Amino acid sequence: MLETSEKLFKRAQQFIPGGVNSPARAFNSVGGSPVFLEKAKGSILTDVDGKEYIDYVGSWGPMIMGHAWEPVISAVQETAAKSTSFGAPTEIEVKMAELVKEMVPSVDKIRMVNSGTEACMSAIRVARGYTGRDKVIKFEGNYHGHGDSFLIKAGSGPLTLGSPSSPGVTKGTAEDTLNADFNDLNSVKKLLNKYEGEVAAIILEPVAGNMGCIPPRKGFLQGLRELCDAHDTVLIFDEVMTGFRVAQGGAQERYGVTADMVTYGKIIGAGLPVGAFGGKQEVMSVVSPDGPVYQAGTLSGNPLAMAAGYMLLSELKKHPKHYDDLEKKAAYLQTGLIEVMNKYEVPHHINRVGSMGSVFFTDNEVTDFNSANTTDQEFFKIFFHQMLERGVYLPPSPFESWFLATTHSQDLLDKTVEATDSAINVVLKKMGDA
Ligand SMILES: *Cc1c(COP(=O)(O)O)cnc(C)c1O
Repeated sequence: MLETSEKLFKRAQQFIPGGVNSPARAFNSVGGSPVFLEKAKGSILTDVDGKEYIDYVGSWGPMIMGHAWEPVISAVQETAAKSTSFGAPTEIEVKMAELVKEMVPSVDKIRMVNSGTEACMSAIRVARGYTGRDKVIKFEGNYHGHGDSFLIKAGSGPLTLGSPSSPGVTKGTAEDTLNADFNDLNSVKKLLNKYEGEVAAIILEPVAGNMGCIPPRKGFLQGLRELCDAHDTVLIFDEVMTGFRVAQGGAQERYGVTADMVTYGKIIGAGLPVGAFGGKQEVMSVVSPDGPVYQAGTLSGNPLAMAAGYMLLSELKKHPKHYDDLEKKAAYLQTGLIEVMNKYEVPHHINRVGSMGSVFFTDNEVTDFNSANTTDQEFFKIFFHQMLERGVYLPPSPFESWFLATTHSQDLLDKTVEATDSAINVVLKKMGDA
């Protein structure tokens, strides 16, 4: 059926590792050939065979206003005509920094980079340089990109592929990364006490999104804030996914907890390659050329990327009603999905924060890595392909979040619920036959 995709995948596998430029796209955890996409508009994707899908990946987050949103397209076109890169300062970088400061008041200074990975790598270097300490605490199942320090019990691709740490990461690096359990303050306290005076930073996804969507328990973020204050440790919120999504000011605003440093990616670049790290003046003052912590990039603050990101963030700032709208749409979809699961008595837990969420096929409440792992992966695998066949493009892993855009109309959401009903019906039959 997806002939062209399959042909392209065969060709891709000859010259690209696994046929993909990022493992999360490879369909490894659901099986089959990945769908090669041709174009998209709003929440509708079109693949190379001309088949259309309702999109719940949104390029893994950036497409909060839907694909090919006209103001971003125009901004990129107009900017491109004036040159795609200078490697010298431009006005749009200044406007971008000012805009972020208005939207996220805790970010006194911000440095643009080219990916979320780069943002997180840079942030911990800054935290280490600032504190003069080496160790970093992260949480099992959280994903902060593919920097060496983070590939220790990480979420997303590594979790899906069942390789929690990666060959090529040195023992020394692994020793400086300490793993705590998400939503468990005691596990953090133990590490801070054991390594008193050695922990530079605690980094986390304030809403976990890379082991499926897992909200922070009440008091968890505040508790981390207090622990960091008590131990002079830098609190880093990795808001690559949650930034400008769960609220204009990200998780910091939604939960009323202020981090010392924040990292961004995804929405901030509107689908172009952008990341950023920022934070309090005092911490950011160590970044070169102000301070001794080196960090640089030939294409950082790239005009095309800045023009696109600035256009998208401006819209979100100007019209906060987008967030109410997204919240309503997501709640509507969640209710519809729960009704279907209940109708067929499918064990499920649907976690959701604003316009991100995920469906776990389990009876357990999902609050951390271990409970996320109780989801029925075999069930998801069949479900995923049944949905794909019915024109619904879900993230190809049970451990990824689904994203909504303002372009998900009531009609699309209703169609998704209908597809789910018929898909679940078939999954149950197939599971019964097996
Ligand atoms: C996607 C993601 C990253 C990595 O960003 P890239 O742009 O893929 O390098 C880091 N942290 C979180 C929370 C993410 O969701």
